[in-house]
Amino acid sequence: MSFADLGLSDELLQAVEAAGYTEPTPIQAQTIPPVLMMKDLIGIAQTGTGKTASFVLPMIDILAHGRRRALMPRSLILEPTRELAAQVAENFEKYGKNHDLKMALLIGGVQMGDQLKALSSGVDVLIATPGRLMDLFERGKIMLTGCELLVIDEADRMLDMGFIPDIETICSKLPTNRQTLLFSATMPPVIKKLADRFLTNPKYVEVARPASTNTNIVQHKVAVPARKKREALRHILRTDNVTTAIVFANRKTTVRELAKSLQRHGFSAGEIHGDMDQSARNAELERFKAGEISILCASDVAARGLDVKGVSHVFNFDTPWHPDDYVHRIGRTGRGGATGRAFTFVSPEDAEAIANVEKLTGSAIPVYELDLAEATEPRQRREEKPRREARREEPVEPAPRRETRTEEPRREHRSESRGRRREAEPVVAQDNGSWNGPIPEFLSVSALH
Ligand code: ADP
Ligand code: MG
Repeated sequence: MSFADLGLSDELLQAVEAAGYTEPTPIQAQTIPPVLMMKDLIGIAQTGTGKTASFVLPMIDILAHGRRRALMPRSLILEPTRELAAQVAENFEKYGKNHDLKMALLIGGVQMGDQLKALSSGVDVLIATPGRLMDLFERGKIMLTGCELLVIDEADRMLDMGFIPDIETICSKLPTNRQTLLFSATMPPVIKKLADRFLTNPKYVEVARPASTNTNIVQHKVAVPARKKREALRHILRTDNVTTAIVFANRKTTVRELAKSLQRHGFSAGEIHGDMDQSARNAELERFKAGEISILCASDVAARGLDVKGVSHVFNFDTPWHPDDYVHRIGRTGRGGATGRAFTFVSPEDAEAIANVEKLTGSAIPVYELDLAEATEPRQRREEKPRREARREEPVEPAPRRETRTEEPRREHRSESRGRRREAEPVVAQDNGSWNGPIPEFLSVSALH
C-alpha cells in the first residue's frame, strides 16, 4: 500500500514524499479514502500511529476547492492542548505547501491579534482548543455557520480534561449537514455517546485494540523504593544507551525537582509542566527538539501528544494514576517504526496503579532486574541538600482517592487558565516502616478537600 493508492492529489503526494513518509500507517490507509469520500468517520488507534495525517492529508485536498469568507472558517479542528493544536498547524504547513490554504490557530496563552486578523480575512482551517474557541464565539468574534468539516481529535483526552460540554455546544453551532471526524486512542462510553449524537452514519475504523500498546516498544517495570527512584533513573540513563528520554512524573513538583536533581548530577535535563506559561513550554520543547537538552521531565497534560522524533526512552518515574496515561506516555517512544524502551518505576505506593495498567493493557509488564548495590555512581560533588531531598522522597505518599485521580488532568488544565495555582498534593502519611501492603483509605484523604 502506498500513499498514491489512497486517492490523494499529485501536489499532496509530492509534499508527503518531501516530508519523508514512504508508506501510510494502517490508520491512515483505512481512513483517508472514506474521508475523501466525505463520509463521517470514527478513527480509533493508539497514540503514535499517525492519526494526525489521517485527517490533515484528506482535508487539504477537500479544502483545495471552495472560497474563504470573512469570520467564517471553512473547517474546524478541535484539539485538547495548545501543543497538539500547534503540531496540527505544523502538519498543515508541511503537507499543504503546494496548496493555497489559510489557517488560524486559536489557543490559550498566546496573543490573539494576528489570529483574529487572519480570521477576519477568511481561513480554510481553524485549529482551536475548545475553551479559547468558546471564549471568542461568545464574544461574537467568530461564526461557525460556514464550517462544513469538523474534526474532534484526541477525544478521550478531551474527556479527561472536562471539555465534552464545550464540544457539545460547539457541535450544535455548526451546520448539521457538515462532515464530522472523530479520532481517539480509546472509546470510552461518553465518547461513544458524543459520536452517536453528533456524527451521521459514521464509518468506524479501529486498527488496534483500544489501549493496547505498540509492539515497537520494549517495556519494563523496575521495582524500586520511592527513595531510590532517582538513583535508579540515573543508573539506567547511564547504562541503557539512552540518547533522548522523556521522564514522566505524576506531580508538577516532582517534575521540577527531578529536573533540578538530574542537572546537579550532570545530565542535560529540562522540564515541561502546566505551571509554565506557553512561551516557556515552547522554548523548552524547542531546546529538546534541537538537542540542547537530552532529557525532558514532563507532566502528562503538558506532554500530551508531543511530536518529538527519536525519543529512545520513556521513563515513568511514577506509575501513572490513570492507566490510559501509561499508553499515552510510552507512545512517545517507538514512533514511526523505530524501537523504543519504556521503564516504569514501581514502588510499593505504585502497586495499585501498576495493577490497573496491566489490567488495561491485558498483559504483565516484564520485570527489569536492577541491582543498585552493584551499580556504582561516578564520583560526584555532594548534592547541596542530600538529607532533605532524601527525606522528601522517602516513604509513603499514598495514592489519591479515585475521585482525586479523575480530577487530576482537569485540575492541571484549570491551573493553566488561572495562572499559578498550588498543586493539590496528597498528604504525606507518616512513616509506616516496612509496611508494604495496601494503604488504609483514611490515609489518602487530601488536606485540601
Ligand atoms: P497520533 O495522533 O496517532 O498519536 P501522530 O499523528 O502524532 O500520532 O504521529 C506520530 C508520529 O508518527 C509523528 O512523529 C509523525 O510524524 C509520524 N508519522 C505519521 N505518519 C507517518 C508515516 N506514514 N510514516 C512515517 N511516520 C509517520
Ligand atoms: Mg494525535
